[in-house]
Amino acid sequence: MKGIYFDGKKAVYREDLPKPERKPSQSLIRVVMADICSTDREILKGYRPDFKGIMGHEFIGEVLESGQEELVGKLVAGELNEGCGDCIYCRTGREKHCLSRRTIGMSRDGCFAEYMALSTHLLHPLPEGLEPELAIFTEPLAAALEIVKQVRPDPSLNAAVIGDGRLGFMIAQVLSLTGIDLTVIGKHPEKLKLFEPFAKTVLMDTYLEGDGYRSLKGEECFEYVVDAAGNPSGIRLAMSLVRRMGTIILKSTYAGSTDIDLSFFAVNEVTLVGSRCGPFAPALKLLKEGRLRFPPVELYALSEYERAFASRAFKSGFRM
Ligand SMILES: [Zn+2]
Ligand SMILES: [Zn+2]
Repeated sequence: MKGIYFDGKKAVYREDLPKPERKPSQSLIRVVMADICSTDREILKGYRPDFKGIMGHEFIGEVLESGQEELVGKLVAGELNEGCGDCIYCRTGREKHCLSRRTIGMSRDGCFAEYMALSTHLLHPLPEGLEPELAIFTEPLAAALEIVKQVRPDPSLNAAVIGDGRLGFMIAQVLSLTGIDLTVIGKHPEKLKLFEPFAKTVLMDTYLEGDGYRSLKGEECFEYVVDAAGNPSGIRLAMSLVRRMGTIILKSTYAGSTDIDLSFFAVNEVTLVGSRCGPFAPALKLLKEGRLRFPPVELYALSEYERAFASRAFKSGFRM
């Protein structure tokens, strides 16, 4: 079958990949559409040095074979993390933290291919009438909803999202639904325009001073700051934006490490919350109800992967 294979250093388009076989606990899926996420671009930069395999983790597919008969022929979205099923994390609803989990497109074959096999319990059928073009946002939207699940922000306070990319867009849309006073901080005036219907927008440069960020008064600061910058500048800006006793939610994942002063968190009693994948069911519900808006996805054939990866569209991906 056709697919985009990461050989440990770069992405390669191949037509000789074996069609996957499903285990009894898995379903065989024909991938209909798959989107590129910044995590995929980080993999190309070395975020997962040990990974070799088919890339991609955001997809919509049609179930071809499954132990769960009623799923056959249905369109589904799928979660990323396939756990072992019997460790303490898997048994307590934390499968995404299973130490021997295999994550599609990151530690096992992913969805940039014609077919994939995935654990049946990770599949979520699309609600009636929800188009794949919109449903493809389920995974990143679920990741944004995880913030609300973890932090339960007080809607009478204020929040800032650092990052004007796709993840920032999902997070800002979700936070705006709570009614909170919301500001989005980014580097790109043209991207920030997309946020204007539902958030205040500020250019990151406004906060620069010398080599770092200027110190702010409490009134200028935020109770909740979400770092979705996708690079180490995000946490540093978050630390100057957050109010004392406020909360920083860390969403960025990137290759490499960063130096920060941890005493800042002790002295200012700031809570740092790490946040990754989130719940699919409410994401599908929000998409079905049409309460969120997204620019269209730019779609390519698998063989055009170089153009797809280089695209500057809000979201690019593949139609199989
Ligand atoms: Zn993703
Ligand atoms: Zn496990």
